Amino acid sequence: MNDLTCVIVGGGHVGLHSLKAIKEETRGMTNGRQIRFVLIDKQPGHLRKMLLFRPAVCQEEIMIPWTHYSFSEGVEFVQGKVTSVDSGGKQIRYEDAQGNQVLMRFDLLVVSVGSIVQQPEPDRGGIALTDPQAAIDIQERWRANLRKAAAETNPEERKRLMTVAVAGAGISGVETSSELALEMQKEASSLGLNSFDVSVYLLSGQKRLFLEGPENVGKKLDQFLGECGVKVLYNRKVIHAEAGAVKLSNGDRLPVGLCIWTIGLIPNPALRSMGLPLTPEGQVLVDECYRVKGAPGVYSIGDCARIVDPTTGKADLMRAGEGVLQADRLGKIVMADLEGRPAPVHKSASSILDFFCIGLGENRGFVWARKWGLNFIMTGKLGWKIRKLAWDKGSMLR
Ligand SMILES: Cc1cc2nc3c(=O)[nH]c(=O)nc-3n(C[C@H](O)[C@H](O)[C@H](O)COP(=O)(O)OP(=O)(O)OC[C@H]3O[C@@H](n4cnc5c(N)ncnc54)[C@H](O)[C@@H]3O)c2cc1C
Repeated sequence: MNDLTCVIVGGGHVGLHSLKAIKEETRGMTNGRQIRFVLIDKQPGHLRKMLLFRPAVCQEEIMIPWTHYSFSEGVEFVQGKVTSVDSGGKQIRYEDAQGNQVLMRFDLLVVSVGSIVQQPEPDRGGIALTDPQAAIDIQERWRANLRKAAAETNPEERKRLMTVAVAGAGISGVETSSELALEMQKEASSLGLNSFDVSVYLLSGQKRLFLEGPENVGKKLDQFLGECGVKVLYNRKVIHAEAGAVKLSNGDRLPVGLCIWTIGLIPNPALRSMGLPLTPEGQVLVDECYRVKGAPGVYSIGDCARIVDPTTGKADLMRAGEGVLQADRLGKIVMADLEGRPAPVHKSASSILDFFCIGLGENRGFVWARKWGLNFIMTGKLGWKIRKLAWDKGSMLR
């Protein structure tokens, strides 16, 4: 009998976990047929997207080659950009690394093409933290500014060169601004500058931080950011970054050497032309077992899919933590579908435990969890260890 081909499109946090879960659940066989696994991604390795801010502050490689993963034995890796899914004809079309159009047949397909970081309109200036290259550009810019500051005699101009605005105060804005402030202070000292002159502003359009949790947790986070040297400005959005300053929504003009945008994630726009059913926001429509509507054998999870808990009606957020739990369940769902048994249904992670962890620089972490209506907060080294564990687990490095 022929092999059954299982194709995973997208090897981000969720695609990797899906591959492992399906491989482990099925043990590579179903009804006497061997399963052939193919992972297809437009990149040459797994991007540790949650660490995107790292190359903006230090030298850190955040791309892991596919061959690093031990469960990858027997898996074919294909570098290619999937452009369409023909669910009736059971084939995908992709552009390979040489630009050729290729068709690939599948029996089972998992679409986990994720999200992209939202960019402001091009005329709004600044640099959006969208990908590793943008992160490197950001690092080069603030380091060059500090070198200029070291030679600058005008104190106002020196101060401006030592100032950065981070626009967007979600978790990635919080992590970016804290690590940046600490790294800029270190670099300023080594250049003979006064590290107290480094200013990192985090611009929030809201009246507090961390809308996912209670107000006092947002206040605590603000306090920790202050200790790192980050000043949060509330109810103020960056309208645009112009030469030497950012213009804010309240009319203020803040002199800065650099503006970094961290304004959140949107579903991968490539989905719009893939031929799958989508919500108006652009996420794949799936049922409570992650099966794509009207496309037998096709599943979708992670940031690119709208996953709703059928009991609570609550949709999962675009978070690796939630996507990884979906992936673990997907392994069981696929196995059940292959054997014609009832499959487990989605249950939102937050109905079990609300859990967020945030890194605030080496040995400074912030973890908040809520269970039975009680809030648990862990900070400092313990918070950092948990944060690091979550990053590593998300990329299957532990
Ligand atoms: C700076 C930052 C910090 C974050 N921090 C946290 C955090 O602390 N906690 C948390 O839970 N979440 C966090 N997130 C969100 C988290 O990164 C996402 O929820 C997670 O990456 C989603 O995983 P995914 O596999 O669904 O999608 P992605 O990680 O986006 O992966 C999609 C994969 O698909 C590939 N791909 C895309 N299009 C195609 C195509 N057409 N053909 C082939 N391959 C394609 C991509 O190359 C990529 O490898 C953060 C995100 C950012 C940007």
